[in-house]
Amino acid sequence: MKQIVVISGKGGTGKTMLTGAFAALAENKVMVDCDVDAANLHLLLHPSIKERNIFKSGAFAKIDPALCTRCGQCSDACRFQAISSEFAVSPIACEGCGLCARLCPVNAIRMKENTAGEWFISETRYGPFVHAKLGIAEENSGKLVAKVREAAKEIAEKNGATHIIIDGPPGIGCPVIASLSGVDLALIVTEPTLSGLHDAERVIALAEHFNVQTQLVINKWDINPEASEKIERYCESRKVPVVGKIPFARAVIESVIAGKPVTEYTNGALKHDIIKIWEAVGC
Ligand code: SF4
Ligand code: SF4
Repeated sequence: MKQIVVISGKGGTGKTMLTGAFAALAENKVMVDCDVDAANLHLLLHPSIKERNIFKSGAFAKIDPALCTRCGQCSDACRFQAISSEFAVSPIACEGCGLCARLCPVNAIRMKENTAGEWFISETRYGPFVHAKLGIAEENSGKLVAKVREAAKEIAEKNGATHIIIDGPPGIGCPVIASLSGVDLALIVTEPTLSGLHDAERVIALAEHFNVQTQLVINKWDINPEASEKIERYCESRKVPVVGKIPFARAVIESVIAGKPVTEYTNGALKHDIIKIWEAVGC
């Protein structure tokens, strides 16, 4: 079984467009959306949710006003100013350190587990799909990514799937690291701009650090052929194969509006280019 993650240095480079196309092209696979902060692969795959799970992460303090004697020890000790003058805890400011609960002389403070999001196992016409939704302003997306990946692996093993295809988060932070660990291939999608080159450099370095094999795709390569060539030269110097160059095409935007993987929306040269990319990364 081959695990492939599609990543990019920033959002909006065409990562989900490509992952959605792979969903339509790959035969026996499990799809995963690890971009838990801004999940959008479901817009192309139209999942029907079969299993809904709560994601708990961290804790916050809660004061029982019936027990509180208003001594002020907790608010004086809280370094995050999370306890108001009325002895109410702000769940947003509270870091869950638990100090106030240990200090309170009358045990009026309890630590409550925090519900940070949800994750789902769904069916789609392209096969099983594991995805998640992190709550607003919630942290620990790396832990949620690990959770959905673990669930996807279990399903893939049970089904004898040949591939797990992951829509990774953008950037180089904690959720990206959680998406990269243990995969067989990271496919980096970038655009032909100077920042696209810098983003690619950072993501290649990160994947290298985790000993993950990388390949790269340049999306909308023809909007700046010079920058595209620069990226290709850089990849050559780093021994990162450029497995495809996708031209700018209106069909991509139209397919997103239509809510379809682009390879199901168009039969033109673009489809052919993406099939070639899948053949290079999927084998
Ligand atoms: S330490 Fe306990 S009793 Fe004192 S103000 Fe805080 S919650 Fe109330
Ligand atoms: S748990 Fe820590 S951060 Fe939260 S209110 Fe208590 S002392 Fe402040």
